[in-house]
Amino acid sequence: MAVPIENKSTCYWCFKAVKWIPVLFIVTFVAWSYYAYVIQLCFYTVEGPVKKILYLVFYHLFFFMFSWSYWQTIFTDIGRVPSKFKIPDADFETVINDSNSLEVQNTILNNLGRYLPIVNVTVSGGYRFCEKCRIIKPDRAHHCSVCGVCVLKMDHHCPWINNCVSFTNYKFFVLFLGYALMYCLYVSLTSLPYFIDFWRGDLTGIGKFHILFLFFVAIMFGVSLMSLFFYHCYLVSENRTTLEAFRPPCFRGVGPDKYGFHIGRYNNFQEVFGDNLKTWFFPISTSSGDGIEYPLRSLLQGSTYHSMDNTQNSTRDIETETSKLNPVQTEISIL
Ligand SMILES: [Zn+2]
Ligand SMILES: [Zn+2]
Repeated sequence: MAVPIENKSTCYWCFKAVKWIPVLFIVTFVAWSYYAYVIQLCFYTVEGPVKKILYLVFYHLFFFMFSWSYWQTIFTDIGRVPSKFKIPDADFETVINDSNSLEVQNTILNNLGRYLPIVNVTVSGGYRFCEKCRIIKPDRAHHCSVCGVCVLKMDHHCPWINNCVSFTNYKFFVLFLGYALMYCLYVSLTSLPYFIDFWRGDLTGIGKFHILFLFFVAIMFGVSLMSLFFYHCYLVSENRTTLEAFRPPCFRGVGPDKYGFHIGRYNNFQEVFGDNLKTWFFPISTSSGDGIEYPLRSLLQGSTYHSMDNTQNSTRDIETETSKLNPVQTEISIL
């Protein structure tokens, strides 16, 4: 049964609004923690001007870096797939409808894909393509069912930021986890003496309950963030996304290889954080490459590291490498 346009539109906006609830939840907690720490703890409870100032200065430093990273992670646009990966409408209809003729599908996708910088293929060696976006998927790109589009170097869709974690905001996401962890550790450590005072009965007024819950909430979020942050540090060091950790990418002529993008720990780190130490700790875009092509471990063996800043060279290298590995690859299937 057809859904009336006005109902469909209402559902659409309701769904869009609901997706912001986890973000609102985080923002509410952070706003309350600001009030509890700055007003109740620093202004009303901490004694001595020097101690107050030190508490406030370091608190605002962590608060600012955490908020900035969070903002950037939420509002950075996810990487879009360039139009050159689009399958023309006529070809797409044939690929989808002509299911009896695998050979026709293979020919069409091969003809389109051979000019694209692609080394990631399906398990059976065919080009990966998305029926919804009508594109041949670039390396490391995946379709996000929540965002409704294919996303470059998709890591995962995170409801806490209402956005995909992808090529464009992965650095911001890791920084957000790191600064959020520091924020929680700082708040819990500096409120610990007053938390002990609470149980001794040395605190009075309603403020003591704010300090009590501030300590508990900071510990609770800190513990949850710790495992996530260190897991993503591990993924950065391996040059692997969360999706690739669950399912290793397949390389043409090689098959599944979870170390396919591993180009050395320091190079892996630079792929996400860039090569300038001064910008590593700020949530500004410094990741290497364009999100379409990535240096491969196989290219390192017997050669030097190729930065993706030089797209033309790296494309040529990848094509040369893959043609050496598997000159004929005609089997096409849909992942
Ligand atoms: Zn898609
Ligand atoms: Zn998404």
